[in-house]
Amino acid sequence: MERIMPNRLDRGFYQHQEEFEAKAIEVLRSGWYVLGNEVKCFEQEFADYMGAKYCVGLASGLDALWIAFRILGIGTGDEVLVQGNTYIASVMGITMNGATPIFVEPDEYFNIDASKLEEKITDRTKAILVVHLYGQASNMTPVVELCKKYKLRLVEDCAQSHGAKFCGQMTGTFGDVGCFSFYPSKNLGAFGDAGAVITDDADIAEKIRIYRNYGSEKRYYNKVVGANSRLDEIQAGFLRIRLKYLDELTEEKKKICERYLCELHNDKIVLPQIRKGATHIWHQFVIRSDYRDELIKYLDEKNIGTIIHYPIPPHMSEAYQYLQVPEGSLPITENYAKTVLSIPLYNGMTEEEERYIIKVINAF
Ligand SMILES: *Cc1c(COP(=O)(O)O)cnc(C)c1O
Repeated sequence: MERIMPNRLDRGFYQHQEEFEAKAIEVLRSGWYVLGNEVKCFEQEFADYMGAKYCVGLASGLDALWIAFRILGIGTGDEVLVQGNTYIASVMGITMNGATPIFVEPDEYFNIDASKLEEKITDRTKAILVVHLYGQASNMTPVVELCKKYKLRLVEDCAQSHGAKFCGQMTGTFGDVGCFSFYPSKNLGAFGDAGAVITDDADIAEKIRIYRNYGSEKRYYNKVVGANSRLDEIQAGFLRIRLKYLDELTEEKKKICERYLCELHNDKIVLPQIRKGATHIWHQFVIRSDYRDELIKYLDEKNIGTIIHYPIPPHMSEAYQYLQVPEGSLPITENYAKTVLSIPLYNGMTEEEERYIIKVINAF
């Protein structure tokens, strides 16, 4: 058997090859390549899928985050609460606006520990950024209550949670803005960079729509200093195809993970758990082990690739030394960074691959 990689984006392409190729040719021949009919249709279809009023297509997930905070007026002197163990892009969405991230420890589901939020709120706190990490919805009830109580903005980073729900409600629809990435490896992935925001607020949607195109509503009439964060037609066209199959693709990943949960048995690893009331769309299958380095080496020798999401928490990265959050101040976050490991998971994984991965891990 060939080496099993942690992810196989080619398998996902071949699952709907004919449709993707036909769409590419259709767009190429149309003569219209950026912000056109495909984008408009995708925005409508994605908003409908999410149960949101508006969707605005953007160039990436990071753009969705920083532009959301920009439009909400969060900047220098403001604080935003965010979990310590997130991908660094979540934090950059805050700091690109000059605001300060305040890190909160995660719970046992790798999401923000809602019971630790209130103690971090100060009179500078303006927002909470909830990241539905690895595909599982966060515990939203207490977060929504706190945002109401302290009049805080609520932004959701849904780059890993397309279609995950908490108590039946879609992640991305709990607060002011839901931010999405469609980077190729995400559960709803394009074939290049792409992102979007969803919101029920007409004013926010309109402001982001203007902001993404140099701050112009009408060509060459610029209302504000904006950015170039346009979504292109080919990516939007591909996303429309993927969106049609999203539930099916999620179901396929869920089956793989259910089998992992059922058949992986090894005292040296801790399996991921699912919170009551939350659904998991399995962006990653993340195990923990105190023997992680040995496990990585062992799996590598058995031709199984793995990845660590993420080995360095944002507060310990070189980029954020200026925040002066010392090592040791977020022990749970730091422990996760030392012990988490994502094992192979992708659409199009074969039965043989899965059986082999389970057998090899169980023998570690
Ligand atoms: C991927 C990701 C982003 C950034 O998305 P890009 O499209 O790569 O800019 C932000 N937050 C999280 C949690 C992510 O996984």
